[in-house]
Amino acid sequence: MTTANVRCPQCHAEQTVTIPETTCLVSELCAHCGKKIALPQDSQNCCIICEYSDQRCPMSQQNT
Ligand SMILES: [Zn+2]
Repeated sequence: MTTANVRCPQCHAEQTVTIPETTCLVSELCAHCGKKIALPQDSQNCCIICEYSDQRCPMSQQNT
């Protein structure tokens, strides 16, 4: 299982999330502040893994 450290855009806390292998993770609740970590509407990225973590999701790696 692959994990990524997603950084919350609201409180900047990092949390470890499991990267889904077949879907894009478009939202996640921050374990620190409880707010929803969601992809910005103008984002070029496909998921919050690509947007807010140090990893790229498997889906985007296939497409590039
Ligand atoms: Zn947060």
